[in-house]
Amino acid sequence: MDEYVCTQCHYVGQFKRKKRGSTKTEVIAWLLFPLGIPYSLWRMCNKIKVCPDCESDLLVSSDSALGKRILDNMDAELTAKLAAKQHLPTRTPRETQKNI
Ligand SMILES: [Zn+2]
Repeated sequence: MDEYVCTQCHYVGQFKRKKRGSTKTEVIAWLLFPLGIPYSLWRMCNKIKVCPDCESDLLVSSDSALGKRILDNMDAELTAKLAAKQHLPTRTPRETQKNI
């Protein structure tokens, strides 16, 4: 199964489907009777993929170039955090320049 990456909060996993439009507008449309029917049908037929964490619709496939880049950056950040936690020596940009 395909996994998705949220470009906003970096959530990795499956998406959630959410109806377009708003419930408030739907209630108003039903109060103006004939408008409620097409609006409700439109909402039922048009669902968008959103992030389960932040509800952003800016999801990319983890197989896409952007998805891979986000996952690589997350791996690099995690490795740096683990290295800092274990007090492993990490190279600063200055030391790296000296060695080149
Ligand atoms: Zn998100």
